[in-house]
Amino acid sequence: MKIGIPKERREGERRVAASPETIKRYKAIGLEPVVERGAGQGAAIPDDAFAAAGAILADTAAVWQSDIVLKVQRPIDEEMGFLRQGQILIGALDPYMNKDQVEAYARAGISAFAMELLPRTTRAQAMDVLSSQANLAGYKALVDAMAEYPRVLPMMMTAAGTVTPAKVFIVGAGVAGLQAIATAKRMGAVVTATDVRPAAKEEIESLGGKFVGFIPEGAATKGGYARPLTPEEQKKQQEIVAEHLRAQDIVVTTAQVPGRKAPRIITAAMVAGMKPGSILFDMAAESGGNIEGAEPGKTVETENGVKIIGAKNLVSRIAPAATVLYAKNLLNFLQLLIDPKTKELKVDTQDELIKGTLLTQSGSVVHDAFKPAA
Ligand code: NAD
Repeated sequence: MKIGIPKERREGERRVAASPETIKRYKAIGLEPVVERGAGQGAAIPDDAFAAAGAILADTAAVWQSDIVLKVQRPIDEEMGFLRQGQILIGALDPYMNKDQVEAYARAGISAFAMELLPRTTRAQAMDVLSSQANLAGYKALVDAMAEYPRVLPMMMTAAGTVTPAKVFIVGAGVAGLQAIATAKRMGAVVTATDVRPAAKEEIESLGGKFVGFIPEGAATKGGYARPLTPEEQKKQQEIVAEHLRAQDIVVTTAQVPGRKAPRIITAAMVAGMKPGSILFDMAAESGGNIEGAEPGKTVETENGVKIIGAKNLVSRIAPAATVLYAKNLLNFLQLLIDPKTKELKVDTQDELIKGTLLTQSGSVVHDAFKPAA
């Protein structure tokens, strides 16, 4: 059975869906990996390294002939033309934002798996692309914000005097936010953070951060995610955040509500109340933005000398590290779909991890969240 790894074609995407290590493992379980020439370039993996691991190097069309295709991002229009009936496509397909494309997968007769929909259970941890990538992104966001910050993070006691530590505030303490907190702590900053889930409050404190804000009643859903706040809760949160922001030097926002636009937490009026030289980094800029005025991939300087940085595919900028983890997540997931004895495909739609990610099968949209009636 052939497993194809195309070069990623979306703008700015430098990751690739396999690594030499996972290629070796695919070979070991009896699959034939076919990698597009140049696929690893952005992630610092030369073709030779894929070939040495046992992959066949091929051109675009040949790679898309494979029984299983592994992707980072969803296919571009040109690649949609390569899909063929019965094929399996696995990637971060971003289905909530691309419902028409989900229908196109069904029309093409493929089984498409969206890795972002994986239930966040203990069993799924090794396959969880959101966690592996958000963890790296949280680190990178803090590092990028720090690079723009015109002062220093740690306290420095020198013969010439003492430099005070920077105050870092993290909004949203999920996987990315917790890594941003840990990174800021390692740099010696004074760290505060907010979230709406009770578990997040404990996690902030366990990393040595101070919790700021309030936990609305029932803000964590059964799936472990946050629900959208009511207008009253939002107002209360904004009042607390506005006051806190006045003293902050670096702010990293990561708040997301799955399947929706990112919640707006910091308004232009709040930014106007901040100190000159402060840095705001919006990790949610691509999904609507937690900060008013944030633009994906841009740095905007306000009249009062505050810089607002909008993230754009942050992990792609640390593609070699992100690829290692992403590729491993897919390897672990793919093993669910292959019978260890016969080495044949076996898609058990009763398995909660398969059911949770499978968008389309045999010409129909099968995922509950995307079925035509939903
Ligand atoms: P996410 O990317 O959906 O959201 C990021 C953070 O923003 C979350 O902590 C969320 O609570 C917070 N948020 C949302 N609205 C907010 C608001 N208005 N104000 C402040 N904060 C707001 O979250 P994620 O990082 O993907 O994690 C989601 C959940 O999954 C968490 O509970 C996490 O602990 C859990 N998780 C579990 C596992 C596992 O193996 N069991 C693995 C990974 C994540």
